[in-house]
Amino acid sequence: MKHNMIYVCAALLMMGGLMAGCSNGAAVSSSAGQQSSEAESYDINYMVLVNKLNPLPEDWEANLKVEHCTNSLGDDVEVEVNAYKEYLALKEELEAEGIHVDLDSARRTVEAQQEIMDRFTEKYGADYAAKVVAVPGYSEHHTGLALDLYLNVDGKDIIENEDLVQYPEIWAKIHDKLAAHGFILRYLEGKEQITGYAYEPWHIRYIQDKEKAKEIMDTGVTLEGYLGAVNETDVTVDLGKSAVYSEEELKEMAVLIKCQFAAWKDCELHSIRYAGDEAVSEENLKWINSMSETAEYVKVAEFLMDFHSPKVSENAFESDMEYKNYQWWLGCDQEGSWEIVSWGY
Ligand SMILES: [Zn+2]
Repeated sequence: MKHNMIYVCAALLMMGGLMAGCSNGAAVSSSAGQQSSEAESYDINYMVLVNKLNPLPEDWEANLKVEHCTNSLGDDVEVEVNAYKEYLALKEELEAEGIHVDLDSARRTVEAQQEIMDRFTEKYGADYAAKVVAVPGYSEHHTGLALDLYLNVDGKDIIENEDLVQYPEIWAKIHDKLAAHGFILRYLEGKEQITGYAYEPWHIRYIQDKEKAKEIMDTGVTLEGYLGAVNETDVTVDLGKSAVYSEEELKEMAVLIKCQFAAWKDCELHSIRYAGDEAVSEENLKWINSMSETAEYVKVAEFLMDFHSPKVSENAFESDMEYKNYQWWLGCDQEGSWEIVSWGY
């Protein structure tokens, strides 16, 4: 399951209509398999930036050339043609080292995403839909250049996120080979405030230019930072000491906040810290529950942040100001999943 459940639902819904045109269970579709490794030439911007702030360019889908393949699970996967060729070369190189990868999902259309959003809005209301469904038009997967890999280890498919992260050595070997094929790792650990996503070792992005890919991978810069779309500065994260929450739990909360922060246009994050166990009280738990119509939180936590607002602010923030000790409140439900409830002073 990549990013969230909803995407996967989309893939399954679409499968029925698309399966017919696919190659017969093979990971390689016939047309791509027979072509030379020469890139197909057409006018498309392989450096395109699509994230929570930058939508897919309007003419993108009309120009895009895709290739279909069927993965080992029998799912139809659609990939941009040249990204697919390089993916096959990468896969072959990895096979030679005993590493087996496959494509979980790659391209998802804006239309399919919109249909899901509409259905969820109708069924559960706009608030809930906005929480669980990715905004149509703002996913890198729309480009056809973003690929989610999964692993096959000892003959077993490893598909779920929580299982995939158990193989850091394998991912390191895969990541080492990306740049030579024009791919980069897109959602880096510690850069969530820029990318808007928690670390995803499986989500790779084709940018075609191998030199640029090498530079990006070697320096550890995000695509946003490389393109100058954001000012990539160092962020101090202080999880402090807690007798209530584990370091892992606190880390998860910090990542949630950073992912949310990424959607604040031109804001620059400086530091983020756990506010301390004093904020963990029945009173505060009651208070955050009073703010939510649907959720029932059983745990509460507070974080504090220092950040700088945009030079010329287009939102609720004052222009060009350092915000200190800005508060973030989080709640955890019975299933153990944390979410942001509120922020502000
Ligand atoms: Zn992905």
